[in-house]
Amino acid sequence: MHIFKTPSLLRSLFPSLLWKMPPQSEQPTLYLTFDDGPIPDVTDFVVETLAQFQAKATFFCVGDNIQKHPQVFQRIQNAGNSVGNHTFNHLNGWRTPNANYWENIKQCSQVMQAHSVGNTPWQILEKPLFRPPYGRFTTQQAIMIHQQFRIIMWDVLTNDYDKRLTPEKCLRASLRSSADGAIVVFHDSLKAAKNMMFTLPRYIAHFKEKGYQFAAL
Ligand SMILES: [Zn+2]
Repeated sequence: MHIFKTPSLLRSLFPSLLWKMPPQSEQPTLYLTFDDGPIPDVTDFVVETLAQFQAKATFFCVGDNIQKHPQVFQRIQNAGNSVGNHTFNHLNGWRTPNANYWENIKQCSQVMQAHSVGNTPWQILEKPLFRPPYGRFTTQQAIMIHQQFRIIMWDVLTNDYDKRLTPEKCLRASLRSSADGAIVVFHDSLKAAKNMMFTLPRYIAHFKEKGYQFAAL
C-alpha cells in the first residue's frame, strides 16, 4: 500500500518540524521539493519544466551528487530555485551514530557553499534548509540539527521512486492528496525518473489552471 498523505499522528508527534505551510491569503500555493539530486538530465528536466510554468521549487541535494555534478547544482540555483541539505551520502539517521551523521551534514554544507552561485534564495534564509534522508533521524539528531537548520518534512509523498506504481496512478494520487500549503516530495533521481517525468508537468498544469502558484521554501 502506498501512503501519499503524511498521517496526522506523525505530524502531531513532531510539531517543531515543518510538514506544511500555512495557507496564503493572496493565492493558493504549493511547495514542490525534489530530493536526491543533482543528477544530469533528470534534474535538468525538472529545472526546465519548472521554468516553463514559471514555477519555483526546493531541491534537497546529496553532497556527493553536488560534488560529481556541480554545474547541474548551479543551474538549479540560477533558475531561482532554493536548495537544501540532504546529507553528503544520503545517510539513514537511525543507523548512523550522531557524530558521523552531523559530520556528513557538515560535509554537504561545505560542498554546497563551494558551488553556490551567490545571491540566490537559499543564501538569504535565516537558517539553511535540511531534510533527513528517508525521513529518518533520531530525536537527538533532530534537536542537534534544529539549532542550525530549518528542518523540512512533507505533507504529500508522490511515491515516484516506486517502480510498482504506474505513472498514471502516481499522478492521480498526487493530485488528490495536494491542497493549499502542501509541501510535496518528488525525486530527481534515476529511479524515480519515469514516474516523475510523467507526473510533474501534468501536476503543475493541473494546479496552475486552478490558480495555484508554486513557490520555493
Ligand atoms: Zn532522499
